[in-house]
Parts: sequence; structure tokens; C-alpha cells
Amino acid sequence: MQKAIFIDKDGTLIPNIAYNVNPDKIHLMAGVQAALRQLVKQGYKIVIISNQPGIAHGYFTTTDITRVEQKIGALLREEGLMLSGFYYCPHLPADQCQCRKPRPGLIKKAARDLQIDLQGSWMIGDIMDDIEAGNRAGCQSILLDNGNETIWKFDRNRQPETICNSWEEIAAYIQRRTEIPEELLKLPTATHRLVSSWS
Ligand SMILES: [Mg+2]
Ligand SMILES: [Zn+2]
Repeated sequence: MQKAIFIDKDGTLIPNIAYNVNPDKIHLMAGVQAALRQLVKQGYKIVIISNQPGIAHGYFTTTDITRVEQKIGALLREEGLMLSGFYYCPHLPADQCQCRKPRPGLIKKAARDLQIDLQGSWMIGDIMDDIEAGNRAGCQSILLDNGNETIWKFDRNRQPETICNSWEEIAAYIQRRTEIPEELLKLPTATHRLVSSWS
């Protein structure tokens, strides 16, 4: 089984420009390149999970989104990174589809298509809907706090494993977290010691 870093697109992987599909305006967020290189070295695949209601609104077409995907793929390739999947929901909230985040449909589909072990994977996003989608799919989740979340309502599904302020922090966190041997995670005292030593 593979493991993956599932990444929200707008506001997480690339700066959020509302409904932008112009490839010339797309660039990677600061620190993404180095962080993803580190994570890919640890065996993670890179998969984008994105809500694109602009399609249902008629602001742009699936052809435009394919161009966006190609541009992001090219930007990652320049860094020696491969985009393994690009999954998006084209619907509106009112459509009540299974793929729009906070529902986990896109992540589950990606996991089936790419044989990804969800428990060993992470969802990274800048709002709580990303976190909820990741948690409901059975991944671990990290909120990249770019100031984009405005409703800080935590419940069981909307609880990130941690909150980071940069991609550098995200890569470091996942690295530390996956270095802990499985046995230690099962021993409360040892885990507590380890967790305390992180800060
Ligand atoms: Mg976002
Ligand atoms: Zn959908």
C-alpha cells in the first residue's frame, strides 16, 4: 500500500485567488517545494483534493481546470516532484454530493484509485472543511493556518492533529510523527515523554 499527502489547492498549495484558472497567476506557496521534497523522500505521494464550485456556477469549465492541473504538475516537476492525482468536486453545496469537502468522497476515491492506505496518510488544508474531510476519510490532518479559517468550531470531526503556520513546520511535524515506533505509541508513559520533548 502507498501513503499520500492529500493537499487542498487554494490557500494551501497555491495562494488563493478566487475562481482563478489563469495558469500565469499560479505559483506554489512559500516552502511547498522543500517540504514536499522531504515528504516524498519518506515515501508519500502527492495528491490534490479540491472543491471547484466555479464549474457549477459556470465561471469556468473542466478544460480550464485541466489547464490548472497541468500548470501545477509542471511547477512540481520543475522541483523534481510528481503529482500523483488531482481530484476535484465540480458541484455546489446545495447539490449535496458526496465529493464536496467536508465530505470525504474525493479522498476515498483517490485512495481506491491509487491504492493508498488512508491511516498512514495526511490531509493538509487551510480551513476546517479540509480537516473534517481528512478525518472522516480516516487520515490524519493538519491545518495550515494562513488566516483563512474564520469559523473556529471544533468538534470530533473538526479537530486537526496539529496546527502549523508554514509548510516547513508541516514537513517537520510529519517527519517527527512518523519516526515514532508503533510500540511507543501504545505506551502512554513513553508517548507522553516523547510528546513533551517535542516542544
Ligand atoms: Mg483552501
Ligand atoms: Zn461534488
